[in-house]
Amino acid sequence: MSNFTKQQSEQMDFERLLRSALDVIRSTYDYLDVSERILFRRIYYSPKFIDRAEITLLGAIRVGPAACESAVSLAGTLVHEEFHLRQPLLWRTWSFWRGIWRREHTMKWLEWPAYRQQISFLLAAARQGFPEAGSEAREVLESFRFYYGEPEDAEFLAQHGFGR
Ligand SMILES: [Zn+2]
Repeated sequence: MSNFTKQQSEQMDFERLLRSALDVIRSTYDYLDVSERILFRRIYYSPKFIDRAEITLLGAIRVGPAACESAVSLAGTLVHEEFHLRQPLLWRTWSFWRGIWRREHTMKWLEWPAYRQQISFLLAAARQGFPEAGSEAREVLESFRFYYGEPEDAEFLAQHGFGR
């Protein structure tokens, strides 16, 4: 019989997955600096958190079970959240008022650059020996479209064969 509680074993599974996710980022060409920036952050697992992840006011990254399907999926989420940590606060304000003005989701303008980073990373990882990252990139784009609408970035979409 195991002496570990369910919570402890979930925590250990998360730590193992986190190490693999960081390996995926580190071994993707041009993402070494991103992996180093992520290593400086506190990253913690929150079993009841319903979103994939969020950043906290103290600059930590909180991760929920939805982001933990695979190392590649978690890696993409960490790249996304690390980008948010570097966004100036004014960006959020700007996104909010732009959304009101244009009757769009108020976080659309804040979220697209982070999604774009995540998708670019996943496509790079797919070329680097993590083929499952290609379908993950498409799923990430579809979830953006579902929550926020069509990204206003036709050039990026066309460049990666995601045009409509
Ligand atoms: Zn985000």
